[in-house]
Formats: sequence, C-alpha cells, structure tokens
Amino acid sequence: MSSETVLIIGAKGQIGSVLTKELQLKFGIENVVASDLREDTEFIGHFEVIDATDFDRIEAVVKQYGITQIYHLAAILSAKGEENPLLTWEINMKTMFNVFEVARKNSVQKVFYPSSIAVFGDAAPPDATPQSTYLNPSTVYGISKSAGENWSEYYFNRYGLDIRSIRYPGIIGYQSLPGGGTTDYAVDIYHKAVNEEDFSCFLDKDSMLPMIFMNDAIRATIELMDAPKESIKTRSSYNLAGMSFAPEEIANAIQKILPNFKISYAPDFRQEIAANWPRSIDDSDARIDWGWKPQYDLDGMTKVMLEKLKEQYS
Ligand code: NAD
Repeated sequence: MSSETVLIIGAKGQIGSVLTKELQLKFGIENVVASDLREDTEFIGHFEVIDATDFDRIEAVVKQYGITQIYHLAAILSAKGEENPLLTWEINMKTMFNVFEVARKNSVQKVFYPSSIAVFGDAAPPDATPQSTYLNPSTVYGISKSAGENWSEYYFNRYGLDIRSIRYPGIIGYQSLPGGGTTDYAVDIYHKAVNEEDFSCFLDKDSMLPMIFMNDAIRATIELMDAPKESIKTRSSYNLAGMSFAPEEIANAIQKILPNFKISYAPDFRQEIAANWPRSIDDSDARIDWGWKPQYDLDGMTKVMLEKLKEQYS
C-alpha cells in the first residue's frame, strides 16, 4: 500500500481531471483526494469541496486524510484573468499562500505548483527561451505565476518545503476542455475538425507557441514529483517543452487526415497576449536534472486527438 496520500486542488479543471485519474492509478484510489469549488456527483473516489481561498478548509481536509502531497492546480488563467486583473491576482496569490502555509504547518512532504510560459514577456529571447532569463510578463496571470515561482523558491530555502514546479506550455488533450487560456484554440480546433465544422482561430496564422500533449504533461508532472530531492536543482520552476507550432501548422496536420477541414483567422485580444510569449522553449535543465523527454510531436498528437475525439462524439 502507498504511504502517500495526495490532495488535488482544482481537480475538475483541464489538467486536474486527467492528473487525478493518473494519481489514483499510481497511489491507489483510497489515497487520492480530489477537490474543487463544487461537488462532483459523478466522481469515483474521495471528493471534497474546497475553496482554496479558505485556509481553514484546506487545513481541515489535510488533517482529516493525513495528506502528504498537494497538487495545487486552482488558478484563474491568462485570457480569463484579464477580465478582472485585481481579482485574478487576489485568487491566484491567496490560494497559493494558503496551500504553501497549510503544507508548511502540517508537515506535508511535497507540493506541486504549476507555473506557465506566461511568465515570459517581450524581454526574453522568443526562440529557445532559456531557463534563466528576464521575466516581464504582460498579463496579470503571468505576473502571479512569476511571483509564485519566487515564493516557491523562498519556501524551499527558508522552510525546506519541497515545492516542485513546471512552466507548462499550452496543454492539448482530448480528455477535458480548457479553462480560459491563450492556447485554448489548439484544443477547440480538434473538436471542430471531428464534427466537420469550420474553425475560426482567435490567433494569427503564424502565431507560433510552445505546446504539449496532455499525456506528456501529466507524465512530466509525475516524473518531476517522483525525482529524488537532490536532483531538483531549480526551485523556482522548470522550463518544459513538448512541441511548437502556429495555427496554420496545426490546421495542416489536421488536413493530412481530414482534407476537407477549413480554418479562418479572426485575431482578438489573445493575439496580443500570444505575441509576448516565447515561440519555443529550451528545456535542457529539466532533461538533465530529472530526465525529461517528450514523446509526442504535432503529427503524433493530431492522430491520437482525432481518433479519441471521434470515439467520444460517436
Ligand atoms: P482550469 O481552469 O481548467 O482548472 C482550474 C480549476 O481550479 C477549475 O476546476 C476551477 O473550478 C478550480 N478553481 C478555481 N478557483 C478555485 C478556488 N478558489 N478554489 C479551488 N478551486 C478553484 O485550469 P487548468 O488548465 O487545469 O490549469 C491547472 C493549473 O495549470 C493552473 O494553475 C494553470 O495556471 C496551470 N497551467 C495550465 C496550462 C494549460 O494549458 N492548461 C498551461 C500553463 C499552466
């Protein structure tokens, strides 16, 4: 039996719903507690309603189950966050501090805190963006994640709290729907394609961004959390790369399988956000420190996405 008991905060989101199932397989369904703002009646396993702005509620669940690891996924994402900057800052920072403080005070062994490519701005080299570079994020979301990276390092140095973090690229999966990010188009496009609908893209056709297939992103998260403590040399957040492509390239990859698929372009405010983000990421530190290697490229991912979504819609 596993000696770990894990809590996922924001477990109903795009990443959380997939990660929770993987963690149930890894640690056993009894040892995983999923949580989110609202009850999930369909959920199989332990589920607790937690609003992560409520310190006492997180602490009560951590004590009740004897939690040893927390995956803190709750956040307001890049595009959604711009609708209400101060509220986004408030929620992203408050939930993070609550998780870090509950972990520190209750001897939680490990915390996963996701960061994002949104920490980079126009002062960072856009191609093969290095691990360590100037961070001038252009969104309130990016500012909150960049601050969160510094706080992760601070909690490790000051209190020895074993916080581990990845700067996720845009995540593309068939298992769940995205929650208001700038890379959401790359999930929606596959849904439109399998339903034989045309797709209107909110980014320009040549707006290249770093992306990753969900299966790779989940594996990266679990591999990082499994790595020996001494291997984790970066205590802010690791750069992580899967693939990079522009809307025109993903459309071409889809057309190889579905030749009638059509895309048009109607860039909106999200194009401004994307314009300040990297085109590709240098993830050599993750590769060296804990052996990261992606398995999916654009064509490999497209094949699986179309197959799985076709099954889901049929
Ligand atoms: P999502 O928006 O799909 O899910 C977030 C979940 O958090 C939702 O289910 C929401 O109900 C929950 N939540 C919101 N406020 C909460 C609160 N106060 N208390 C408890 N739960 C709350 O997001 P996601 O795409 O699954 O992302 C998870 C994490 O990964 C986030 O921190 C995000 O910033 C990061 N990330 C995601 C991507 C991506 O492409 N999806 C890329 C980079 C980083």
